[in-house]
Amino acid sequence: MTPSSGVVAPRAATARIVWPVAGILLSMLSLAVGGLIWTGQRTNELAVERQRMQLVGAIESRKRQALEDLSRIAAAPGTLESLRWPMDAARAQRQIGAPLEDHFDFEASFIVTPEDFVVTGRIDGQPADQRAFAMHRPLLAGVLADVRDRVGQLALRRDGRLASAVSPEAVMAATGVSRILHDGVKTRIVVGMALPDEASAQGAFGGLVAVATRTLTAEGLRDGALMSGFDDLRIETGQSASPASLYIVGLEGFRKPRFAWTPERPGDSVMEHVFPSIMIALLAIGVFSAFMFAHVRFVTTDLVNREAQANHLAHHDPLSGLPNRVNFTKRLDSELSRIRDSSESVAVLFLDLDRFKEVNDTFGHGAGDELIRQVARRLADTLRGADMLSRFGGDEFAIIQTRVRGPSDSAALAQRVLEAVQAPFHVGAGEVTIGVSIGIAIAPSDSRERDRLMKLADLALYRAKNEGRNRYSFFELGMDDALRLRKAVEDDLRDAISRNELDIVYQPQFSADGRKVLGVEALVRWNHPIYGPIPPANFIPIAEERGLVGLLGEWVLRQACRDGRRWPGISVAVNVSPIQFRHPDFVETIARIVSEEEMDPGRVELELTEGVIVEDADTAENAMMELRARGFRFALDDFGTGYSSLIYLRRFAFDKIKIDRSFLESMESTGESAILVHSVVHLGRALGLTVTAEGVETLEQQRFLQAVGCHQLQGYLFCRPIPAAEIHDLLANPADVLRNRARAVA
Ligand code: C2E
Ligand code: CA
Ligand code: CA
Repeated sequence: MTPSSGVVAPRAATARIVWPVAGILLSMLSLAVGGLIWTGQRTNELAVERQRMQLVGAIESRKRQALEDLSRIAAAPGTLESLRWPMDAARAQRQIGAPLEDHFDFEASFIVTPEDFVVTGRIDGQPADQRAFAMHRPLLAGVLADVRDRVGQLALRRDGRLASAVSPEAVMAATGVSRILHDGVKTRIVVGMALPDEASAQGAFGGLVAVATRTLTAEGLRDGALMSGFDDLRIETGQSASPASLYIVGLEGFRKPRFAWTPERPGDSVMEHVFPSIMIALLAIGVFSAFMFAHVRFVTTDLVNREAQANHLAHHDPLSGLPNRVNFTKRLDSELSRIRDSSESVAVLFLDLDRFKEVNDTFGHGAGDELIRQVARRLADTLRGADMLSRFGGDEFAIIQTRVRGPSDSAALAQRVLEAVQAPFHVGAGEVTIGVSIGIAIAPSDSRERDRLMKLADLALYRAKNEGRNRYSFFELGMDDALRLRKAVEDDLRDAISRNELDIVYQPQFSADGRKVLGVEALVRWNHPIYGPIPPANFIPIAEERGLVGLLGEWVLRQACRDGRRWPGISVAVNVSPIQFRHPDFVETIARIVSEEEMDPGRVELELTEGVIVEDADTAENAMMELRARGFRFALDDFGTGYSSLIYLRRFAFDKIKIDRSFLESMESTGESAILVHSVVHLGRALGLTVTAEGVETLEQQRFLQAVGCHQLQGYLFCRPIPAAEIHDLLANPADVLRNRARAVA
């Protein structure tokens, strides 16, 4: 299964879930924002329109005001009488200057004839003459023309007459003209109206027209009218367009004069109120999307990671990160099928670290783990090409070596591995040196089949270890059987002990004349359910190696006590392995078992070999002293095969020495051996020890041993090791049994 199958990849999940949700939220929000902005702008536009109308209203009222003011001049008592047409200019100046002077805040005011002859005029309160009028004419011309135009039209309609009793209001309404004009400096209201000629016989207009100008300032406009929201009302010309403006007529040369102001923007304030909420909503959506995004991503990434992790765990060793056994076998399968139709070879190398357990015990598991990691790194460096390194667990590694041309290729790799591992390692505070044993099997020459190939590599490894470790060994034909047996022992002995599959036979020890049974030696037997009887010499060393000999020894002792209790008067000898003897609890264990089985320790003889005492004399001495104090007795087994210094051995207070069988074997061929046996027996006796000879097979041997003074004899000549039941018979009727046995041997 690939890591991504079955699980939505984080990217895809993001695309499938997060983006659409975020997208919907965002488009809803942008619709809402868009609507709000539109509403705000529309509100602002309407507000500007309303203000513009307000301004127009204010200007109109100013214009009307100006017109009304002008009409009041026209209606002033005596004005018209004094303006009797035709009159000369001098008279007019004298007569009618006064009314214009006193009234209203017109800057300039004139009454002119149809020929633009000034009847009377004022500028800034001072009488104005024809020249002043000429200067003002550009400003006034339009209004004058309009007024005369209106009068002309009235005249056409009514034959140039008005009703005789015409009111000033009527005149104003009929002929009044009011304009706003900008002259580049000021904005002015220019008003004009016709003056009815009451004096004329027809009651018609005599043709006099009053015109006047009044400055219209923004301030004045603002103050005079009930206007709000025009704080910065001003008059502008030129290009720059203000947000809100109202165009007014400009005299020629003055472009686009206008009132301008910064409009009220009620929409903005709506937006101002709403925007924080929108921002909060946006933020919320952002946060939500981010959270969703992160969450979905986390969940999916987590899933993918977990699966990848699980997948990795299933195929890798967590400590070293190397492929594990599952991975290894898969790869081996594919390599084996790959080479099926080619001449290529593939090698399997099994590796087992030497002394790894010691490091673990001495420096702790942390150091052990660290060592494994370092070893893994070094091993990886020895590989080439597509080779695969794997860790099976514990201190076991394995390598698949590809493209092997011959055994020498594998030997070269094995050599590299040996060298890599031999260099010291730094773990924790210390430096350690370990080794590695390597077993090699090659496909297809050894086997084409995966399991068998691995088994053969394992057997080769087994041999490498047994041949002294820190070496490599190839699988070889014939290695199979012997090693398989040993391996079976290793694998099954523990179960055999716990399942009571072991047996004990007893070999009697006789007096030198062969007539009396003085003791028995317990000898363990293992009848393997598949391989049949396995000799103790084969499995005891393995039991020692694998730490099983303690268990085995205890079992034998207990069993021997149970049996020996039924044979009063004779000693029961039990073999003690050096490994077993060195165990700190040895004394306690032995004493406990013997007392549990209610056996007399005085009848229990512990057979030790020289190795035990030579290797750690002090400990051995202490243990022996303690056991002796409890009544146990000791025999020195296999005397003559090892160190063999009786003087040295005095220190250990043995009760008995057992001369090894090999002495008797060589005694036959060389006379020298006989002399040696003689002197050993002699010395033993001198030291007050019981001297026993083992492996007595012939009468000659017996006679010799008897002659030199040997106390006890043990061997096939008298009796082979036999089951407990037969010992029972033997003790009950020694003569019968022995006769039968002697016959059987003969
Ligand atoms: P060992 O202690 O020297 O035991 C005597 C061995 O010599 C026994 O072999 C016995 O069968 C054999 N033997 C006795 N008489 C003769 C003879 O006339 N000729 C020949 N050729 N052999 C004779 P076994 O039972 O195979 O035991 C071999 C060794 O295994 C023993 O040597 C002993 O070292 C060890 N062993 C046996 N049982 C135990 C046990 O329960 N615990 C321990 N630790 N070691 C044991
Ligand atoms: Ca023995
Ligand atoms: Ca022996």
